Formats: sequence, C-alpha cells, structure tokens
Amino acid sequence: MTARIVIVGAGFSGAVIARELAEAGIATWVVDGRSHVAGNAHTERRTNGVMVHVYGPHIFHTGDKHVWDYINKYGDMVPYNHRVKATSGGHVYSLPVNLHTINQFFDTTMSPAEAEQFMTERADSSIGTPVSFEDQALKFVGRDLYEAFFKGYTQKQWGVSPTELPASILARLPVRFSYEDSYFNHPYQAIPRDGYTPIVEAILDHPLIEVTLGRTVAPQELADAEHVFWSGPIDGFFSSKFGKLGYRTLDFVETEEVGDVQGCPVMNYCDVDVPYTRITEHKHFAPWETHEGSTIYTEYSRLAEDGDIAYYPIRQVKEKEQLMQYIEAANQATGVTFVGRLGTYRYLDMDVTIKEALEVANLYLSNRRENRPMPPFVVNPL
Ligand code: UDP
Repeated sequence: MTARIVIVGAGFSGAVIARELAEAGIATWVVDGRSHVAGNAHTERRTNGVMVHVYGPHIFHTGDKHVWDYINKYGDMVPYNHRVKATSGGHVYSLPVNLHTINQFFDTTMSPAEAEQFMTERADSSIGTPVSFEDQALKFVGRDLYEAFFKGYTQKQWGVSPTELPASILARLPVRFSYEDSYFNHPYQAIPRDGYTPIVEAILDHPLIEVTLGRTVAPQELADAEHVFWSGPIDGFFSSKFGKLGYRTLDFVETEEVGDVQGCPVMNYCDVDVPYTRITEHKHFAPWETHEGSTIYTEYSRLAEDGDIAYYPIRQVKEKEQLMQYIEAANQATGVTFVGRLGTYRYLDMDVTIKEALEVANLYLSNRRENRPMPPFVVNPL
C-alpha cells in the first residue's frame, strides 16, 4: 500500500470518494472484502446473455441533475421506466397503488376525482402524523388495500409486524389517482447498458486509486492511515462491542428458463402464506436486448446472521439504541469518517449514496485545505 488514505468498501460510496480525492491529486487505497466492486449493485452477465442484478433489482432513479450528470460520465445509462406488478389473493394488480389498482381491486370504473374521494372516505383520518408503517398505510390507502398489498409483504420482508416499523419505509412508495404506474416519481430513471459494475470500475479507474479486492483491511493498516473512509458496517468497525446491529438479508433462488416467464421485471407476492416476497425476471431490466433464455430470481428475506450479506438496516427501537452507542464511539474516534448504507446504517438508494459521497469528499478536501479535522459523519445517521 502506498496511499495513506484508506477507503474501506468499493461500492458507490467508496468509489466516488476515491475519485473525487484523486481528481484533487490525492492518492487513496480502496479495499473490499468481496471479489468485485460495486457492492450490492454488482451486475454480471450469465452465459445465456442476460445481465443479472446479482444482489437483487437495482434501478437507478434520481431527481438530482448533478448526480444524474455524474453517473452519465462513467457509463451509458439507458432510460428505463420501472413497472411492478403484484399478486394478491389470486389476482394480479398494478403497483404502486394507482387508479388502475383501485379500480381493479374494488371492481369499479372510478375517475381520478371519484377515486380520491372514495379513498378519503376509506382512509383513517384520525391519524395525524403517521409514526408506524401501519399508520402510514391506514392513513393513505385504508385498511383493504393495506391488508392486500402491504401487511403480508412487509411482515415477510422485515420479519416484524408493520406496527413496529417506521412510516418512512412505506413513504418510499407513491399513491396515485391516475393510471401512471411508474414505480418511481423521479425525472431521471435508467439502467446502465453494461451493468453497474463497469460504471464503478470506471469511477475507480484513475492512476491515484489503488484497488485491492478479496481482502479485509488489518487493524494496523487502519491505525497507520492518515484518514479512513469506512463504508463497511459501522458496528464492524468497532468489533461489534455494543452488539451486532440488525440487518435483513436476502436469499435468491436462481433458475434458468426459456422465453418470457412472467412478462414483467418484478412481480411482488403480497400474501403472507407465499414464502417469498418477489420474483425477478432480469432480462426485463434491459428491454433493448433480446434473449431466448431467462434468468429468474425468487427472493426470500430473513434476519442476517454471521457471514450473511447485509441488505436492509432494520432500525427498530433496539437497533437505534445500539446505533446511538456506535455514534457516540464514532464521535470519540479521530481520523475516520463513516459513509454509505452500512457505514451510516440507513436505507439508502444509489442516487443518495452518490450525492452524499460527493458531499463527504468535498468536505474532506475543504477541511484538509484549512487543516481542520474531518467529522465522523457528514449526515446524521439517526
Ligand atoms: N412493500 C409492500 N408491498 C409491496 C411492495 C413494497 O408492503 O408490494 C413495502 C415493504 O415493506 C417494502 C417497502 O414497501 O420494504 C419499500 O418497498 P421498495 O419496493 O422500495 O423496496 P426495495 O425494492 O428497496 O426492497
């Protein structure tokens, strides 16, 4: 290792920070325990030619022009409109909840204004500011749609009742009184033509960035560093001294099939007695490609155990209390900044990850110029 600045993790956070520092003439060493870059956004083409989102569906979407321009510098982003279907109670519906879902579900032919009025009557208006996931659902879609689309799926995805989860998880999904069925509201939505991994490789492709894969960083290497950017799990940095933070992990059962198996990229299974949460048919993420074969992922969610890949931070009361202890420890530490989904223990989309990494890098550069110490967090993880 020649660089004295160590960046742990070669996902979007680590790669973007390394690149910004390199552009400013500063060398970094990026090290990742896995054998590939791009973290959970990693993609791989299977022998049937299908580009597979190895750790599950990743659709790039953002409202931030700066982030959009940034990612476009490193790869060919093909406009892509994500549409999801949901199976519930033996019927297939359009998702997120939109006018089609409402009319399908209630067997009606309502106009937007009629549907809005209808939903206002069904929604629970006694709920002020929703705190739990269930409150959020009852307030915005009412009990029938909540039970059909969210209750069972959420129980399977998170392993706890929606009454124990924060409203923010559901607030990710829109509710619309039109037939617009795009999964996201953002103006920029795309999938990289060659997958995410070549994009992250291109970000890292700079003479001042040294990348080592398939190896963990030794404590002495961290101690010797001038500064560490840590995008691994925050509890891992502190040897889990306040206990392990809870994560959900995913198991994918991969099958090779032929033809068009389900006719859409993602089908959610909302009934609690179906053991999986969703089925992904990867070739539909690249509608500009033609493949006879089809790679299918059937997705199961469970609590992460030792050695499992962390996907979703659980962030319930118990974990938030632990997180506060780690934040306190981080505030005492010097020479380390925690970044990204695992480093700050938040449910982050790729665009937010890139935006924050750019901010972290800029702050580091300005503090360095002024000889000021770098804070452990640039955003508040709570
Ligand atoms: N969700 C649900 N039913 C669905 C889709 C989503 O209950 O059919 C809930 C579930 O709790 C999920 C959350 O909404 O964790 C956010 O969904 P999103 O599609 O954003 O999840 P991701 O793709 O990030 O796993």
